[in-house]
Amino acid sequence: MTRVAVNLRNIVVGADVQIPLPNGRQVTPVNLDNAASTPPFLSVLQAIERFAPWYSSIHRGQGYKSVASTEMYESGRDAIKRFVNADNIKNTVIYTKNTTESINILAHVLQQDQKTRVVLSTEMEHLANDLPWRENFFVKYIKVDEFGRLSIDDLEKKLQEYRGSVKLVTVAGASNVTGYVNPIYTIAPIAHHYGAQIHVDGAQQVPHLSFDMKPYDSPEHIDYLSFSGHKMYAPFGTGVLIGPSTVFQNTDPFLKGGGAVRLVSRQFVDWDDPPARDEAGTSNVMGVVALVAAIKELESLNMVDIRSYERRLIDHAIERLQTIRFIKLYCFQAKDEARISLISFAVEGLNHHVVAQILSDEFGIAVRSGLFCAHPYVEKLLHMSQKDIEAFRKDPHLPFPGLVRISLGLYNQLEEIDIFLDAIAKIAGSREHYREKFTPGVKLAWHG
Ligand code: PLP
Repeated sequence: MTRVAVNLRNIVVGADVQIPLPNGRQVTPVNLDNAASTPPFLSVLQAIERFAPWYSSIHRGQGYKSVASTEMYESGRDAIKRFVNADNIKNTVIYTKNTTESINILAHVLQQDQKTRVVLSTEMEHLANDLPWRENFFVKYIKVDEFGRLSIDDLEKKLQEYRGSVKLVTVAGASNVTGYVNPIYTIAPIAHHYGAQIHVDGAQQVPHLSFDMKPYDSPEHIDYLSFSGHKMYAPFGTGVLIGPSTVFQNTDPFLKGGGAVRLVSRQFVDWDDPPARDEAGTSNVMGVVALVAAIKELESLNMVDIRSYERRLIDHAIERLQTIRFIKLYCFQAKDEARISLISFAVEGLNHHVVAQILSDEFGIAVRSGLFCAHPYVEKLLHMSQKDIEAFRKDPHLPFPGLVRISLGLYNQLEEIDIFLDAIAKIAGSREHYREKFTPGVKLAWHG
């Protein structure tokens, strides 16, 4: 039996800490909101505690602790490279705050090359992998099909249409709305064939499946990767951007200030080499300690085992959700669909926020509701027209449609999924009762 198959609740901090319900009852919560942020691994907290006595500000100090902290911080980059099989020599690992900052840095750096101005994003992206590109690029969005799955045909079509002008194809490794895992090793060779590079937004993929950036001479090579520590059991403010050192070598950094420079006078600024060039300001050393400890834990648990364990849980959830009347799932439900352990749905006649509130208030279950920072994708899944969206835009008091999402972590148990399934079946079976209780006077309507 793998380590993941046994109960891993004790591996994270706080899973069994009781919470109060509004009626005063104390319950053990069920956390199904791991795609937003995971609790820390216990080993992450222990690593921080172990390191704290040795902590000091890094790079410019000659004191013993400063040197030790610098060494820990710098060697963290190697651990990260190993984890995603990045090239040890050619790639640089830039520490950031989170995926959002990573992608903003990448967009800022790449826009300095004036030759190619088109970026192909997709219709399924989180806003972090959409908005930073809109500012300085001509962004085209690769289409999704009626189930929200990425169209590889449309990718090729767009690469042909904008042949020679596409700088980058930027795509989520896995969707934070539907949970689909995108075929990045199909996309990469196609992008490279047309002279474009590929960036993978790994925020939802890296915590759940093993990631391989593949060698530079492979057509499947992933040129850039970003991800966040707080979604992989290290919520201490560190994210990562990985890419070729040469790209960051001669470009203007996104953040400017101390630590990013070699020498400055009133007349000139000589920026440092990457990655320091893109890490201005005092570094988040503890965040790196946390991320490296989380990576070690994930590696020791084995990413393949994590994936298959979580897959069993989400398949169980999907199977039962399909049988509950008034619940609509927003994903393609084939057994062999590549997916991570999250899924979105709606309860007919109940507003998504209300469903989330009932789950929390009555059952102690944490889920997420809304548009999940992927507004255009969810609007598309809900078949909203531009006119519909404008109407909601004009009247901020109208409750905007949205979905409910459950997202699992490796410490979740089958029993917790069943607690959720029983709760949602009860809610779907007593919609009138709950609607009256939580939104008195509001009529039943699809998505509320
Ligand atoms: N990309 C995806 C797919 C996400 O799900 C998220 C966050 O939920 C982000 C990017 C942004 O991550 P962060 O908030 O850590 O910057």
